[in-house]
Amino acid sequence: MEKKEALQALQAECLGCRECPLSQSRHNVVFGVGDPESELMFIGEGPGENEDLQGEPFVGAAGKLLDDMLEMIDLRRQQVYIANVVKCRPPRNRDPLGEEQAACRHWLDAQREIIRPKLIVCLGRIAAAAVIRSDFRITREHGQFEDVDGVRAMAMYHPAALLRDPSKRPETFVDLMTLRSEARRICQHLY
Ligand code: SF4
Repeated sequence: MEKKEALQALQAECLGCRECPLSQSRHNVVFGVGDPESELMFIGEGPGENEDLQGEPFVGAAGKLLDDMLEMIDLRRQQVYIANVVKCRPPRNRDPLGEEQAACRHWLDAQREIIRPKLIVCLGRIAAAAVIRSDFRITREHGQFEDVDGVRAMAMYHPAALLRDPSKRPETFVDLMTLRSEARRICQHLY
């Protein structure tokens, strides 16, 4: 089965998921969006209000900033794949609980298994702790690539954090330049 069809089949299954209590308050399951063939995957923590209402990750102000960040490295949203650690919105945008992340994990793992990205960028502390290392320190370790299960992975600040604290933006610009350089080095189809 092609990646696109495999991902569509997985999404159809995921849309009916009720494996954790977040299913009770969600409007939509926010599965993921983008190019199933992409070599670059972004992973955030979970849907916010706009994402929950629209069923798409990273819409609203944080999504616009993510689009701008992609533009800085000469990419468009359609060229990458974007997903979250949990697919349903935690109430009042609280951090997803450990048990919610654990229940949802197999969906993200299955997405990764189908897409097989060469590079993963975690957006924010929660995603970095889930994907890279449980003790990941976003303030100290953002922008540094490491090998995680055979994939090059790094983290940068979540766009929502950059909206709250613009003083982090210069560091994120450097991280984006690092990402572009690594993507040019190991991805064959992005640039
Ligand atoms: S957050 Fe994940 S595990 Fe929980 S109901 Fe939604 S899709 Fe299922």
